[in-house]
Amino acid sequence: MTAAIPRGDALALTRALVAIDSRNPSLDAAGPGESTVATTLAAVLRAWGFQVELHEALPGRPNVLARLGPGTSGRTLLLNGHLDTVGVEGMTHAPFDPTLRDGRLYGRGATDMKAGVAAMCAAAVHAADAGIGGELLVTAVIDEEYGSVGTRHLLQQGIRAEAAIVTEPTRLAICPSHKGFTWAEVTVHGRAAHGSRYEVGVDAIAHAAHLIAELDAHQQGVLTGITHPLLGRASLHAGTIRGGTGPSTYAERCTVTFERRTLPGERATIFAEELEDAIARVRARHPGFVATVQMGLTQQPNDLPVTHPVVRALEAACAATGHAPRLEGLSCWTDAALLSAAGIPALCFGPGDIALAHAAEEWVAVAEIAQATAILTELIGRWDRDAGDAWRR
Ligand SMILES: [Zn+2]
Repeated sequence: MTAAIPRGDALALTRALVAIDSRNPSLDAAGPGESTVATTLAAVLRAWGFQVELHEALPGRPNVLARLGPGTSGRTLLLNGHLDTVGVEGMTHAPFDPTLRDGRLYGRGATDMKAGVAAMCAAAVHAADAGIGGELLVTAVIDEEYGSVGTRHLLQQGIRAEAAIVTEPTRLAICPSHKGFTWAEVTVHGRAAHGSRYEVGVDAIAHAAHLIAELDAHQQGVLTGITHPLLGRASLHAGTIRGGTGPSTYAERCTVTFERRTLPGERATIFAEELEDAIARVRARHPGFVATVQMGLTQQPNDLPVTHPVVRALEAACAATGHAPRLEGLSCWTDAALLSAAGIPALCFGPGDIALAHAAEEWVAVAEIAQATAILTELIGRWDRDAGDAWRR
């Protein structure tokens, strides 16, 4: 199959990648993981002239690390994308049989984010063919959709670069910022009793409702005032709720999970503090209220200044290829935050629409794949010509 992919052909590579099932097994027990897609991409990139290494970030689940360019200038630009996809339940079309229809390529992972991976690989080839002095580090990683083990593994290996472009789907908008998030599980404790024994029972579900209402008031009040110019406002919602054993029993316990989406500049502990305050307010009104909090995963936001040289260079690359540059915030979390936090300023820019990611119908506009490839090729040229180290924050 790999021999059939012409050098630098982003669309052909997208099709080849979409045709390979790479569902993340941590999200979908039937998912085979990234091994086949990674070895296939590695073979393509070797044929295209890259120096390629496979590094197992998890057993049987390798990252692809590919280098192109002489590196004589001592400069390195990182292009990063993920190879895993979410599950396929409820999809309205064949997930792994990429189909072209009305200028769209359909398939699971078409938009999130095999088109982005293909575009960055093709752009690296086109830029290198035009002649560069620096080194391009193209990384196609595992597990972004679950624990981001792939990009964490790369960073543990000590990769360095002046800047990074993460080619997640942004509809070709330049996205220097995205939100972070924090999860929490709150268990509200009541007292079990026969449904007729109101004087004995303490309704854990009603108490959980008080807390949900309190947090919702916070989200509709205070949080509307916490804003970011590209990302809008902070937010908070309940994700799951479970409790009770039957209609004739006072529920002893009700467990609710919450998610707080955070903005750049907010403390990592902000949600833990907000929960504590909300619980205190509920307890002041309902003295029998008892809850225990288990804080879950926290992922930091990403926030590059819009004046950062890599943002400016990407704006110029858009304009030079006939595309009006658009600066936007990306609502979802990405590996860009991990790269930025490790000192490699990262932004998101790629083909595809995040609204179609993880959706029942997933496609990418074929024209966007070509446009992303052209813009990224131009961007790489600009990075290579920029003599200083200005890209490193
Ligand atoms: Zn993605």
